[in-house]
Amino acid sequence: MIALDPSHQVDCDFTFVSHAHVDHLHKRGKKKINTQVLASIETALIAQTRGYDLACAAHEHEGFQLVDTGHILGSRGLLIGDDVYYTGDISMRERAFMKPAKMPRASTLIIESTFGRPEYVFPPLSEVTHSTNKIISEMYDLGIPVILMGYTLGKAQLLTKLFSHWDLIIYDAVAKINSIYSELGVKLSGGITHKQAEREGLLSKSRPWVMVAPLMSGRNAFVKEMKEKYGAVTIGFTGWAIGSRYRYMMGLDYVMPLSDHCDYKELVAAVKQCRPDKVYTFHGFAKEFADSLCEFGFDAEPVRNGQGRKEVEKTLSLDSFQ
Ligand SMILES: [Zn+2]
Ligand SMILES: [Zn+2]
Repeated sequence: MIALDPSHQVDCDFTFVSHAHVDHLHKRGKKKINTQVLASIETALIAQTRGYDLACAAHEHEGFQLVDTGHILGSRGLLIGDDVYYTGDISMRERAFMKPAKMPRASTLIIESTFGRPEYVFPPLSEVTHSTNKIISEMYDLGIPVILMGYTLGKAQLLTKLFSHWDLIIYDAVAKINSIYSELGVKLSGGITHKQAEREGLLSKSRPWVMVAPLMSGRNAFVKEMKEKYGAVTIGFTGWAIGSRYRYMMGLDYVMPLSDHCDYKELVAAVKQCRPDKVYTFHGFAKEFADSLCEFGFDAEPVRNGQGRKEVEKTLSLDSFQ
């Protein structure tokens, strides 16, 4: 048996970890279990610095192929023989140093469906960076600082790269991941950390500044402090920005649709490239996306459907690949 991104440790032949986002990792329990972990070198290293021990992970194994999924640095899908492809999280779009995912051929495809509804179609990246630069310039002229926010791992590194022409201040948790990226060959300009800037009194000067920080709600104590002390405005970068209520829900000043996942059209394109006989969807709009795929003539259903899960487990039982 193979466990795919399990949320707890499972006694099985192989455990595949697609990437180092915490919803795809689990802490090692006290009980010793027997399993061979499969993960990319980057995933093992990033996970380790976040307190998840994948030290004994194999980066390759006969019968398996780890395929780049373009989601974050080191993210991989798992191709089992030529039969089954599991995507983990996936992006088909080039973004700064991230290359688009390649879809292998497989008869069974297990694909994430986070944004699997037709209204989730993202604008080109150039549109997002243009609008953002415009806001930053306008604020700069008014002497107002701007905080660019995205998930600490993945999105914040893209923001660091895409907006490096502004003298960036980097929130400390982001700086830590930035330095791992640099170590792994994605050179990100240093900038100074938030703590350093505070210490040196750089934030309080009249000159406006631009910071890269984790995605936080406007009610977060740090954001409140930045607003009260410096009048900073916030821009959140996420695919959920497509929904009109997201900005209010999060209490952000601006939101930009920039995602490390496929939008709806890209998900459909990914399935078409794979040309599977059977598709299982998981995450987000799994049911809706499976329904859409059925309309396109695919045999598709969500994994969380009991029957679907059983079949996936059956397909993934190692016996069929020996
Ligand atoms: Zn992820
Ligand atoms: Zn995920």
